[in-house]
Amino acid sequence: MVEVVRHDIVIVGGGGAGIRAAIAAVEADPKVTVALVSKVYPMRSHTVSAEGGAAAVVPGSDDSLDKHAYDTVKGSDFLADQDVVDYFVEQAPLELTRLEHWGCPWSRNDDGSVATRPFGGMQIPRTWYAADKVGFHMLHTLFQHCMRFDRIVRYDEYFVTKLLVDGGAVKGVAALDMREGKTRVVLGRAVILATGGAGKCFPFTTNGTIKTGDGMALAYRAGVGLKDMEFVQYHPTGLPGTGILITEASRGEGGYLINSEGERFLVTRDYGVGQKAELGPRDMISRAIMQEISAGRGIKGAYGEHVQLDLRHLGEAKIMKRLPFVRELSKTYAGVDPVHQPIPIRPVVHYMMGGVDTNVTGATDLPGLYAAGECASVSLNGANRLGSNSLTECLVFGARAAIEALKYARGTSEGNETALRRQGEEEMARIDALRGRKKGGERISQIRREMNLAMERGCGVYRDQASMQQTVAEVAQLKGRYADLALEDSSKVFNTEILTALELGNMLDVAETIAVAALARQESRGAHACRDYPTRNDQKFLHHLLVFFTPAGPRLEKKAVTITRFQPEERKY
Ligand SMILES: Cc1cc2nc3c(=O)[nH]c(=O)nc-3n(C[C@H](O)[C@H](O)[C@H](O)COP(=O)(O)OP(=O)(O)OC[C@H]3O[C@@H](n4cnc5c(N)ncnc54)[C@H](O)[C@@H]3O)c2cc1C
Repeated sequence: MVEVVRHDIVIVGGGGAGIRAAIAAVEADPKVTVALVSKVYPMRSHTVSAEGGAAAVVPGSDDSLDKHAYDTVKGSDFLADQDVVDYFVEQAPLELTRLEHWGCPWSRNDDGSVATRPFGGMQIPRTWYAADKVGFHMLHTLFQHCMRFDRIVRYDEYFVTKLLVDGGAVKGVAALDMREGKTRVVLGRAVILATGGAGKCFPFTTNGTIKTGDGMALAYRAGVGLKDMEFVQYHPTGLPGTGILITEASRGEGGYLINSEGERFLVTRDYGVGQKAELGPRDMISRAIMQEISAGRGIKGAYGEHVQLDLRHLGEAKIMKRLPFVRELSKTYAGVDPVHQPIPIRPVVHYMMGGVDTNVTGATDLPGLYAAGECASVSLNGANRLGSNSLTECLVFGARAAIEALKYARGTSEGNETALRRQGEEEMARIDALRGRKKGGERISQIRREMNLAMERGCGVYRDQASMQQTVAEVAQLKGRYADLALEDSSKVFNTEILTALELGNMLDVAETIAVAALARQESRGAHACRDYPTRNDQKFLHHLLVFFTPAGPRLEKKAVTITRFQPEERKY
């Protein structure tokens, strides 16, 4: 029989958003107990690899909440919900200061004030940092702080495979305990998804192997809409071959981009970024690099063509103080020392603007289900996220979702344990049947590879209707083939084959929503650049797209954008 444990709130994900949510819940209520369920040990969540920084207005500086809000809305190409943006910018300084009180070692100016660096699309330096290992320090701070509370009960290396719904409301999850290979049921009166992004749908990404869109797929299958999925952020500066990120902080600290002729093309040519040059937003800079390469000004390398990021003029002392990790990564993974040589770079899939549709409180339309962090689309980022808003988003909306989930949980029942247990048992039977199943001839690696390539072809930096159409068809076909997957490993303890099979199933669902939404958005906005419709069309497309699961295939719906203070205008820097 399947084992059942019970808590008040279940949080899926131990990254920045999940741990912040857990702390917020136990601090708000002295009795509440929280299950923190994570498929990896929390410190291995992708948040740990964030490099450049977290955005917030520094109180008492020349900056203002209005400026941060305007930059975010403009960066989003006017697709962010402005009530969400207002809440975000107001809470951001409070969250980063709170993190400092918990021990986060923000870098300092000589006078002791908090140091900030410029980031793309921001009119003022407002990115707080701890050298170039920001995610590492933030996640450590959160993780260590959460250990103060024995009411946060961790379920490390538990892979959640299903949301359990009773009477139309989410009442817990079924999870595979990877150490023993057993499915267990973790019940709660509310569930918060904080499962991160889905970059691994693509072949070339900065994302860790674990970023497979699990939470998005769980919500989607439970009937919740995925929003803004067509907007996939390409970061301009990834190392060719590995996709390892060279942080935007390197441009914030003064790095240049140059083409094969040694020309600083963002200054000499018109790519719409104006005076901001290298500090333009990511969507525009990624397109500029692709155009340089198409115009024959790329540099040929072992992994295709690239351009270069030049830091040499910054000097060794500054590089070692502000960007030591960039130097280490460049030396180890590209064989160049940025003190003496430019770094080869090309655009790389980095971040999902889209995700589980929530309102400003983190609530989805399914009672009892909340989402926060990269897996959610609370509508802060719209069509293009500004670098360094995401880490702060995890804190602000992780905390908010927890408070709302707590309020909801107090007023709702625990659900019918027999019915929920039965669902857990069905899930256990499904997983057991999959383990080591010899039927069918399809390989995980083959389907994953084909999905990756289809996504790159149809949903790259530039898209066109014909290739998107083809990607939609290919992904649908791959989903059919997935049903015939053959698995070799029937062992129970740390059976990683079954995990990769489950992750692939999740990615196929998420990839399909990306391609379907991209095809439907017949305009160019933010990160969605469609060659057949090269301009933004506010008359027809100033709205979000939601994708819903149906047995017959994805169904699309429109959702209004909340516009309050900032009317859409041409996006030029
Ligand atoms: C290399 C890199 C550098 C970045 N740098 C910056 C930066 O400088 N500034 C910035 O603002 N943003 C940055 N970002 C983006 C930002 O780091 C992420 O968007 C953010 O950290 C996501 O946090 P999260 O809590 O939502 O998810 P994650 O940190 O990805 O955590 C997801 C959690 O969910 C768990 N999980 C997932 N699926 C399951 C499942 N099925 N069952 C159980 N648990 C599950 C995982 O175990 C994990 O604990 C960067 C991203 C990358 C990849």
